[in-house]
Amino acid sequence: MDLQYSAEYEAFRGDVRSFLEANWQPTRNAEAMADFRKMATHAGYLYRSVPKRFRGSEQVSDLLKAQIIREEFEAAHAPMEVPGNGMSMLVPTLLENGADWQKEMFIPKTVLGEYQWAQGYSEPGSGSDLASIRTKGELVGDEWIINGQKVWTTLAHKCQYMYALIRTEPHAPKHEGITYMLIDLRQPGVEVRPLRQITGGAEFNEVFFTDARTPANWIVGKRGEGWTVSRTTLKHERSSIGGGNNIQRTFNKLVALAQRTERSESRAIDDQAIREKICRIEARVLAHKYSLYRQFSMTAAGKEPGAVSLMSKLISTNIGHEIAAVAQEIIADDGLILPAGRDAGSKLGNEKWLNQYFGSLGVAIAGGTSNIQRNIIAERGLGLPRDAVAGSGKE
Ligand SMILES: Cc1cc2nc3c(=O)[nH]c(=O)nc-3n(C[C@H](O)[C@H](O)[C@H](O)COP(=O)(O)OP(=O)(O)OC[C@H]3O[C@@H](n4cnc5c(N)ncnc54)[C@H](O)[C@@H]3O)c2cc1C
Repeated sequence: MDLQYSAEYEAFRGDVRSFLEANWQPTRNAEAMADFRKMATHAGYLYRSVPKRFRGSEQVSDLLKAQIIREEFEAAHAPMEVPGNGMSMLVPTLLENGADWQKEMFIPKTVLGEYQWAQGYSEPGSGSDLASIRTKGELVGDEWIINGQKVWTTLAHKCQYMYALIRTEPHAPKHEGITYMLIDLRQPGVEVRPLRQITGGAEFNEVFFTDARTPANWIVGKRGEGWTVSRTTLKHERSSIGGGNNIQRTFNKLVALAQRTERSESRAIDDQAIREKICRIEARVLAHKYSLYRQFSMTAAGKEPGAVSLMSKLISTNIGHEIAAVAQEIIADDGLILPAGRDAGSKLGNEKWLNQYFGSLGVAIAGGTSNIQRNIIAERGLGLPRDAVAGSGKE
């Protein structure tokens, strides 16, 4: 593992810094952020894998440069690519599997943040066993008629479009009867019902389709081959969840919390039991960070990191949960107050730790549960026999 960047890359870092100093004034103004993103794309720092004709910067893939950009943009609190499923999941899927006209129609506006996408995979009874989905699509003339229900659809109430898995071949084996479909959510046959969460927020939805329609050619890949297409999307989802950058930041916040929280006679950080828990977590944070560095160095050198890469999501979500659990212990009675929802301000700031705690349970489920991750590690990484429940998993 080599933790130093070469002179060429340090020079690149200098360029990124100069660009940020010249062009980025911290702001939350949406228009100013959109303008900045355009400049950063023009300079080759954002949307590097997206071709220029689709409003990307079309750069030669270079993991080290991408990492340097991430580090410098984060340090300057500058916005990266627009957040959401569109950029992280749909665009890579369209680039790999979409028809040219689909790329032209959907990618540029997704890159600009004008189109927001919901992920319509899970259904009641079909989460881990995703291939058992029942929402059906029937081709009538030049349209698909869609009936059924999706659930846990993050931010569907704010999205114009959904990429969804729909059963179109009811008599085919379950993995072969699914089509990857793009659906306009703003139509009479679609009803989006928010689900209120324990945090007080309502970020998830149930989405009901009653004779909803989508054009016959709004399918990505071939009819009945949606399972294979969906694998691209999940690969991107999992790697974004497994990224280690957030863990160190959350851990630092835990240490700050322990330092500022007064107990009866001393600060929480001076409590031996709390210190030990924090030290144990720090060891895991560092081990995870260095494991990611090792995988990163290997990938940058053109080597395959192997089974260890399957562990990132499980490890990072476990650590996130441990951090939130110790924070709960530190805030003690403040933990009895109601969580405030994602957007609520807070006098003490401790409600945010409650949200962090509940959120850490959710992240361990999203994109494939921890148990499903363990199955994947066992079967693909360690070569153990397949799970008795065949075909399981958002795997
Ligand atoms: C924060 C969050 C955001 C989400 N966003 C979306 C979204 O935008 N779009 C979308 O489509 N879905 C979304 N989901 C749904 C998510 O993909 C599913 O919740 C997940 O795949 C698990 O499915 P399930 O809820 O049906 O649980 P189940 O599959 O019923 O699992 C229940 C329990 O059984 C265990 N289990 C199941 N099968 C096995 C097995 N074979 N071996 C061992 N253990 C097993 C699981 O690990 C779990 O503990 C989101 C979920 C969360 C929490």
